Amino acid sequence: MRILLLGNPGAGKGTQSSRMQKNFNITAITSGNLLRQNIAKGTTVGKIAAKHMEHGEFVPDDIMIELIGDELQRNKRQNWLLDGFPRTINQAMALDDNLNLSGQSLNLVINLQVPEEVILQRIMDRWIHVPSGRVYNLSYNPPKIHGIDDVTGEKLTKRDDDNPDIFKIRLQKHHALTEPLLEYYNKRNILITCNGRTSDEIYPQIESELIARFNVISPNNQVKTSTEKNLLKVATRENL
Ligand code: AMP
Repeated sequence: MRILLLGNPGAGKGTQSSRMQKNFNITAITSGNLLRQNIAKGTTVGKIAAKHMEHGEFVPDDIMIELIGDELQRNKRQNWLLDGFPRTINQAMALDDNLNLSGQSLNLVINLQVPEEVILQRIMDRWIHVPSGRVYNLSYNPPKIHGIDDVTGEKLTKRDDDNPDIFKIRLQKHHALTEPLLEYYNKRNILITCNGRTSDEIYPQIESELIARFNVISPNNQVKTSTEKNLLKVATRENL
């Protein structure tokens, strides 16, 4: 699986990516988390990235392409999921070039579509644990103890760019830049769009697609359709 996850900021890419990692053998490469980890460590990339991110601007393409290229190199023998990269056509073309070098290509692009009023509320309620990238939401996925990461007991933080003014800039930029990306991938017949107001509405659509496209087994064997049941039989014969 070489998957790209697209969607408005706050559309729940982080949540869907965590579920996919939990349920399938897949590694997520999340550009925003990599940048925030670099900022927290005070690396050169982190220092440059922070200047752009605190104004709601994109980090320059050359930095992003190198950062993600290194991660893909590290994960080249695994199933992976890209979240947050590419965000520009330049980045998309650089990704294709990079994958072509090892005879690979993207085989699924998932576009998440969530209404904007829903997204805005989510952004206000979002808290994160920077070292792990875990995302909490006060209304539907709160931490067990307010402000504390469930797994490590460390403090949660608000993202600097999760405020209404910066969010509006991010949303405008996102629309202008994502449309060409959607067109770019639509031509190749690897783009699917999943619609919903909540992550619970969207995740089953993703899971069905993974099962159908990659012959992987539904994690909890809760097969819902006869097609899935047939696929499950095939996958079970081949993999177990
Ligand atoms: P995210 O966590 O994906 O919402 O990203 C947070 C911020 O990191 C964005 O608003 C950008 O400033 C920066 N960023 C993340 N990924 C990229 C990318 N592929 N290209 C440029 N900037 C990025």
